[in-house]
Amino acid sequence: MATAVTVLGTGIMGAGMAKNLAGAGFEVTVWNRSPDKAQALAGAGVTVAPDVTSAVADADIVLTMLFDLEAVVAVMEQALPAVGPGTVWVQSSTVGVDVTATLAELAERHGVFFVDAPVLGTRQPAEQGTLVVLAGCPAALHDTVTPLFDAVGSRTVWVGEQPGDGQRLKLTVNSWVLSLVAATAQAVELAGDLGLDPQLFLDTIAGSPTDCAYAQLKGKTMIAKEFPPAFPLNGAIKDAALIAQAMHTAGTDDRLMHVLQTQFQAAADAGHADEDMAAVLHSFRR
Ligand code: NAP
Repeated sequence: MATAVTVLGTGIMGAGMAKNLAGAGFEVTVWNRSPDKAQALAGAGVTVAPDVTSAVADADIVLTMLFDLEAVVAVMEQALPAVGPGTVWVQSSTVGVDVTATLAELAERHGVFFVDAPVLGTRQPAEQGTLVVLAGCPAALHDTVTPLFDAVGSRTVWVGEQPGDGQRLKLTVNSWVLSLVAATAQAVELAGDLGLDPQLFLDTIAGSPTDCAYAQLKGKTMIAKEFPPAFPLNGAIKDAALIAQAMHTAGTDDRLMHVLQTQFQAAADAGHADEDMAAVLHSFRR
C-alpha cells in the first residue's frame, strides 16, 4: 500500500512539494488555511481535506510547510491529537533552532516521531522536485523519510541527529542568501545612480571569481524591475529575525543581519512585502 502523506500548507513551497509527492506515488492529502490554494491541487493523486483533523487522521507522514512558528504551532496543536501514534512529522517550515526542540517535545507527547527538515530552493525547485533537504533526525528514521525527501528534492544533507540541526544549516545558508540579494541590489542601484547601465555591473563580474549565478538571476529581475514572488520579502524579514536571534544566542556579531532586516523591512513598508525578496532594491532608493 502507498505511504499516506499529508501536506499542511500549500503556499508557494507546499503546493509544488505536494504535486511531486503525488507524482512519486505517495497517497497525498492536503490542507490549507485558505481553501482555494488547496483546491487548486485536487486530482492527480491529491485529495483535499476540509479541515486539519480529517487531513491527518490516516497519515503515515505529516509534512508541515507553513509560514512561521506561530502557524506551525497553531496548526499542529489541532492536528496532533488526531494523528495516529507512530506517525512521522516532517517539519520543513523555517522556524529557528531552539524552538524546533520544543516542537519535537510536542510531537513526543503525542507519540509522534519528529524530523527537522527545512529546505533550500525557492518556487521553481519546489515545483521541479529539486530542493535540497537539510535533515536533523535520528538515523533510525532515515529509511522512512528518504523516499519523501527524494520526491521533493535532488539532494539530502543529513546534518545531525538532533531536532534543530537542519534549522542550524538552513539559517546559516540563508544568512548568505539574504546578504547576497541585498548586496546585489545595492550594486544595481549604485550603478544606475552613478549613471551606468546596471547590466554593465553584471556583465563585468560574469565569469570572474566574484560572479555568482544567484547574483545574475536576482540582478536580472532587479534591472527588469519584475518581482514575481519566489521567496517573498516578508519571508526574508522573518528569516533575518530568526538568523539575528540565532547569532545572538551563539555569540556571533549580529549587526549586519539587523541592517539587512532593516533594508528588507523598508522595502516591505514601501508596499512590496508580497513581492520577491529581490524587491529589496526599492530600499536603496532615497
Ligand atoms: P507562503 O507561500 O506564504 O505559504 C505560507 C503557508 O502558511 C500558507 O499555506 C499559509 O496559509 C500558511 N499560514 C500562514 N499563517 C498561518 C496560520 N496562522 N495558520 C495556518 N496556516 C498559516 O510561504 P512559502 O514560501 O510556501 O514558505 C513556507 C515555509 O517555507 C516558510 O517557513 C518559508 O520560510 C520556507 N521556505 C520558503 C522558501 C521560498 O523560497 N518561498 C524556500 C525555502 C523555505 P494561507 O494560504 O491561508 O495564507
